[in-house]
Amino acid sequence: MLVDLHCHSHYSDGVLSPQELVQQAEFNGIKIFSITDHDNIDAYGELNKINTTVTIIPGIEFSTTWNKIGVHIVGLNFQVNSSNLLSAIASQKKSRCLRAQLISEKLTRFGLIDGYEKIMSKKRFGQIGRPDFAEILVEEGIFKSREHAFKKVLGSGKVCDIKSHWLPFEEVINVINLSGGIAVLAHPLYYGLTNSNLKRLLKDFKNFGGQGMEILNGFQTPDKSAYLLKLCQDYSLLGSIGSDFHFPSKWSRLGCNTKVIQHVGVVWDSLL
Ligand code: AMP
Ligand code: MN
Ligand code: MN
Ligand code: MN
Repeated sequence: MLVDLHCHSHYSDGVLSPQELVQQAEFNGIKIFSITDHDNIDAYGELNKINTTVTIIPGIEFSTTWNKIGVHIVGLNFQVNSSNLLSAIASQKKSRCLRAQLISEKLTRFGLIDGYEKIMSKKRFGQIGRPDFAEILVEEGIFKSREHAFKKVLGSGKVCDIKSHWLPFEEVINVINLSGGIAVLAHPLYYGLTNSNLKRLLKDFKNFGGQGMEILNGFQTPDKSAYLLKLCQDYSLLGSIGSDFHFPSKWSRLGCNTKVIQHVGVVWDSLL
């Protein structure tokens, strides 16, 4: 069976509309599907009008920090009109705008003038994020590629990696739980943590009420999945899977085979 509980629409940094994502999900044979935009649920304003065989689960990918390191927590199956959730989203939206203005200021010394204003003047959908800055830095010839821009200024630990305004780790988990959802730690191997720090992160996540962790995020080698499966068992979490699809490429396709998860409970059993 194919399931996908992590992907992005044009309401964050993906390129497809929610409808296009659902059509693609149905075409690929996905049975259970969630769009998890960064810090917003705008996609769900459109999805109730769609006629599809795919089971759609409300989702979001919250930005937060753990010990000053940027981490992402996916929320699934919450009430989309929950007041706790909506006020958390409003707070993240404000922080995202403020952060973008700070990033824009930092980038002036690299030669990008009025970056924030330039991005906002051409943005049709969604919220501003680091990928928008990567794009404009490449457009203006300041860096040669998106990857290069992340490596030099936007990526983890670099000058534009500003994350002090996100809602705290524990609060994000609480908000997801209070709105009836379950909290899933996204891509645990992407934070550059040592094994012992990753275990500390999982322990804190579990103690604060987190329920799941991603075993599979996009294309991934089997040794990584095996390692994450073991951690999932050790911390008694439920396993989740998602493509983290943003745009069509040979590296990314909607839908993950549920066979990668064995011997642990899976989040979608608790969602249906
Ligand atoms: P933001 O939500 O503004 O913090 O931006 C984070 C997003 O930037 C991630 O969800 C990815 O889509 C993208 N991203 C992060 N690191 C990289 C990277 N090294 N290269 C390209 N895109 C990246
Ligand atoms: Mn993204
Ligand atoms: Mn993420
Ligand atoms: Mn994502």
